[in-house]
Amino acid sequence: MKAARLYEYDPAMNVELRIEDVSPPTVTGPDEVVVKVGAAGLCRTDLHIIEGVWKDIMDAKGSLLPYVMGHENAGWVEDVGSAVTSVKPGDAVICHPHQSCGICLNCRYGHDMYCEHSLFPGLGLDGGFAEYFKTSERSLIKLNTGITPLEVAPMADAGITAYRAAKRAAGLMHPGAACVILGVGGLGHIALQCLKHTSGARIIAVDREPAAQVLAKELGADTVLDGGPDLVEQVRDLTGGGAHVVIDFVGELGVENICWKLLRKGGEMIVVGYGGKIEIPTLELVVNEIKIGGSLVGDYTELVELMELNADGKVRMHQTEYKLANINQAIDDFKHRRFTGRGVIVP
Ligand SMILES: [Zn+2]
Ligand SMILES: [Zn+2]
Repeated sequence: MKAARLYEYDPAMNVELRIEDVSPPTVTGPDEVVVKVGAAGLCRTDLHIIEGVWKDIMDAKGSLLPYVMGHENAGWVEDVGSAVTSVKPGDAVICHPHQSCGICLNCRYGHDMYCEHSLFPGLGLDGGFAEYFKTSERSLIKLNTGITPLEVAPMADAGITAYRAAKRAAGLMHPGAACVILGVGGLGHIALQCLKHTSGARIIAVDREPAAQVLAKELGADTVLDGGPDLVEQVRDLTGGGAHVVIDFVGELGVENICWKLLRKGGEMIVVGYGGKIEIPTLELVVNEIKIGGSLVGDYTELVELMELNADGKVRMHQTEYKLANINQAIDDFKHRRFTGRGVIVP
């Protein structure tokens, strides 16, 4: 089968993935499932993998290059292990990106992302930038009737990551409260739609790119700002002192140190994008009682909930599709933000 493999890390991102013929994965364990990839989302984490941000963690786990990236996968079940009962060949599925064990205490509490024996295909082991990839039965959700893998693949990670942050934000706000979304890209545009349907909050969307600003307006943001030097003042004016919640989908390039300044007293910043470093005087945390916390992907049940919102037409992925052979072009376009929403690789 054709697959796009990463051979080396490069902080300058001058390496390309190699499109190669490799052996397709085969079922070897009783709970394993081989999925024929219908589509695979291209993620900022993929850029960070190439940059080597994950190198030390990967090296410690003993995962060796080269491998196939791609962790936002949807497709059709191709083959199943002997113990698999919930899906059969031909079923259209979306794949939760995390292969959790189901046995450890965290799994039993439903915290898939905290699983003590987890695997993450596409990060250290072969993922979905290929014609087939292998995961386990526990990771699969059957698609609702009429939904195709191509429409939803990035929901597997971009979607639930945005949904988990938006769900937490919604729980912190009341009608009339204000939520700032920093970055209206592949995740931000999903969070915006989720918040519109799960909270009564007013949404202020911030993005430097004019195309992303247009998308934010179309999706129902109450206010769209361009992230200029007056951002802190603008948000304070619009909200009467600051936002109740700020979701940072950028997390680097200095944005991470603007976000907490947008909060009102008692407000909460949810960090989703990463790569930067937050520096904040402890006095700010105490005097204003602001909270800062991260949000990591999302649990299986959150992906189920998101797929229901999607099936009801409330949350849709805006995406640009690329053939697998053009994956390096897709990565370059992503780096330079030549598309809005999500880039999707179609084998
Ligand atoms: Zn991702
Ligand atoms: Zn577990």
